[in-house]
Amino acid sequence: MSVAGEAVVVHSAPLLLPVSRPPIRDGAVAARDGRVLTTGTRRETLAAHPGAEEVRWPGVVVAGLVNAHTHLQFTRMAGVGARVYDTFEEWSDTFDEVYASMDGEDWAASTREGALLALRHGTTAVADVVTDLAALPVPAETGLAGVSYLEILGDDDREWARGGRARLTSTLGRLAAGDVPRGGGPWTARVGIAPHAPYTLDTAVLADLAGLMRAYGLRGHIHLQESAHEREFTVSGTGPLAALIRRIGLDFEILRAGGTGQGPADFLDGLGMLGPHCHVAHGVHLDAGERALLRARGVGVALCPRSNRTLGIDGPPVAALLEEGGMVAVGTDSLASSPSLDLLEDVRLLHALAREQGYRAADLARRLVEAATTGGARALGLAAGPGRIGSLDAGARCDFAVFDVDPGDPGDPDPYRTLIEDGPGQCVATVTGGVHTGLDRLANFTPEVPRGR
Ligand SMILES: [Zn+2]
Repeated sequence: MSVAGEAVVVHSAPLLLPVSRPPIRDGAVAARDGRVLTTGTRRETLAAHPGAEEVRWPGVVVAGLVNAHTHLQFTRMAGVGARVYDTFEEWSDTFDEVYASMDGEDWAASTREGALLALRHGTTAVADVVTDLAALPVPAETGLAGVSYLEILGDDDREWARGGRARLTSTLGRLAAGDVPRGGGPWTARVGIAPHAPYTLDTAVLADLAGLMRAYGLRGHIHLQESAHEREFTVSGTGPLAALIRRIGLDFEILRAGGTGQGPADFLDGLGMLGPHCHVAHGVHLDAGERALLRARGVGVALCPRSNRTLGIDGPPVAALLEEGGMVAVGTDSLASSPSLDLLEDVRLLHALAREQGYRAADLARRLVEAATTGGARALGLAAGPGRIGSLDAGARCDFAVFDVDPGDPGDPDPYRTLIEDGPGQCVATVTGGVHTGLDRLANFTPEVPRGR
């Protein structure tokens, strides 16, 4: 825990990837009160902070990873994510069945297990979608930064008017008043709103939620174009997703009207949902026009390729998004659709997908590490201001992960590539807000702290 006025600590490593600037051999970060003071070579950092305690880490230190789309509360639903499905709809049916059977589950405990797994893999901030309110304060309690998004799904206009809207605004009011816990220790969860998807909420409900985000000044987050059938749903109100919604017994305007004639992104845009305050998850089926729309609106896309694979759907258009300058972030989604919460595994898969899709430039590994750090911070609106996250420069929250991989030598043309290729599964320590989390492989790992300085 950070204590005001505490001493300066210098964290050094054979290779430092601050992300906001080029890699630094024999690099170091000086921190105090949970914030970065300076970043540079070890020698200049120690000279600038005489008398500071030094912690020498092995391998590669990288700015803390930002998981830009997950649902930590579903960690105990890992059984659902342990197999591969033929279609999104088949997975969705299985998920709903298992979730319904877990009534009474201790979702706070499940969230905590997920938060600890994320930390073990070097994640220091999350965009966490919260279905049950008990999950909301947990990530902040474990030291994770980020945003907890209250999920809304399954409301048609009538349900929304009958109680859905009042429940949400009451919760937001209680959160604003401090009547619902938002975390412990020095960190407080930032709250956002997550309308689940364009096909699980009625049209007027989506429009109302877009207005509430702006009225309350809250971040927004929504699943977009994960299933190949989402376009058919919004364009013509038909297809497997329409059948799913009818089976649940929801009475949506889109179904009555035979669609909107618009694809999902344009549909949401027309309702006022898209803007720099909002980011989307998946975006597997975004076409060029939709990618341009998201760019114009300043909307980030959290790509979750391993989750897509579990659901039997295509890889996301990562090469196009990068080449066009889209705001790319990376997420794992939950253990209910992914084999692990190791974000670097998703980065490694994105690297392979981008090459398959024809991305040839030499900057690929760097851009994907940026996506998993600063990209996520930008998507969550946390890349600027005091205590910002996503990079290791002066003023940022002191968040980083230590990977026990070969730091290479000064001639190494692409240290980011080494991290992506060798880093998954190799996180040995995670520091959030300047504090060593005491997780991961720390039982077997003692940082070397030189004495007598
Ligand atoms: Zn999700």
